[in-house]
Amino acid sequence: MDIVIGLLFFIYGIVFGSFFNVVGLRVPKKESIVSPPSHCTNCNRNLGVLDLVPVFSYIFLKGKCRGCNTKISFIYPFMEFVTGALFALAYFQLGFSLELVVAILFLSLFVIITVSDIAYMLIPDKVLLPFAIVLLVCRILIPLTPWWDALLGAVVGFGVLYFIAVVSKGGMGGGDIKLFFVIGLVLGTVNTLLTLFVAAFIGSIIGIIILRRAGKGRKTPVPFGPSIAIGAILCYFWGADLVEWYMTMFT
Ligand SMILES: [Zn+2]
Repeated sequence: MDIVIGLLFFIYGIVFGSFFNVVGLRVPKKESIVSPPSHCTNCNRNLGVLDLVPVFSYIFLKGKCRGCNTKISFIYPFMEFVTGALFALAYFQLGFSLELVVAILFLSLFVIITVSDIAYMLIPDKVLLPFAIVLLVCRILIPLTPWWDALLGAVVGFGVLYFIAVVSKGGMGGGDIKLFFVIGLVLGTVNTLLTLFVAAFIGSIIGIIILRRAGKGRKTPVPFGPSIAIGAILCYFWGADLVEWYMTMFT
């Protein structure tokens, strides 16, 4: 039975993931997320009902637009699949608990900002603010123990990132700083700091790969949002295990 419900969460996830792609791509450009309907950015052909089926349509279309044969970026079906996998993971980890609501919101935020950050190197306030408010309300109704850890985490997350931004003179975007406020609210202090370490580690690996591909001497800006997203999700589900493992290994 659990498998069936998990599969349902996966399907919900890929459907929502398809919507998150639209939000992540359109909100930074100040476009409506409802109209115009999804279309090919090259030939403006509107997508038919079959083209809108997440993940599968990409496979049917062999990654090309039916109208003009332009390649469709692999990132869209990938993010849809990832959203499905994350929603199912949240269900398997938390079951039908109140915290599952927090998890779904938290994961949705990361999918949207990852799309925006990859496409435009930007984490839009218009996405961050509503999520910050809703997640704050969630953490009042579904508190951490102790309850004030959410507030402390938010202040510490924001403060540390702000400090890094000042010291590195612009090496950290404003969106990243605000994002860490939201992460602090949800994760509490210890897991927020842990997220920063994990994100920095993942970010440097991604950075090395991108710089190698770009060739020597070229400066390519690397979005930090996706690394923060991976770090925060890992720490949300397994932060406590990671801390415990560290404590038994090194003390
Ligand atoms: Zn086209």
